[in-house]
Amino acid sequence: MPRKKPCKICRRWFQPHPRAGSRQKACEDCQAERHRRACARWHEANPHDDKKRRLRAAAKLDDVAEADDPIEAVLWSVVEQAIGPAHGTMIEGIARLLAGTAASQLDLQAYEAPRVPGPVVFHAEADDRGRVRHL
Ligand SMILES: [Zn+2]
Repeated sequence: MPRKKPCKICRRWFQPHPRAGSRQKACEDCQAERHRRACARWHEANPHDDKKRRLRAAAKLDDVAEADDPIEAVLWSVVEQAIGPAHGTMIEGIARLLAGTAASQLDLQAYEAPRVPGPVVFHAEADDRGRVRHL
């Protein structure tokens, strides 16, 4: 059984839950308040994280990596809504340009892949004295 300790919120002594033990920082009555304060601290340290996460999900940016055509998988209308049509159009155009360049480079590399030399075949015969003559 963990020892009694003072609550970080109300400062009253409480008996921590046996499973939580030393990790429990607040009494049962104050756990919601402790959680609320922890969330407030986190949101202050990461002010735009929720908005960024919602935007990424709305534009399906996290699903793009597994898509066959990543450029088509992005919901460009959501991107435009978030950052404006001018910036959205520019980013979409640059993304398509980069994707096209990368694809053509991959095609070029496949075309120019070094050929593996075939087996070396020697044509030779030995004369009656055992000397090898290459043909
Ligand atoms: Zn408390």
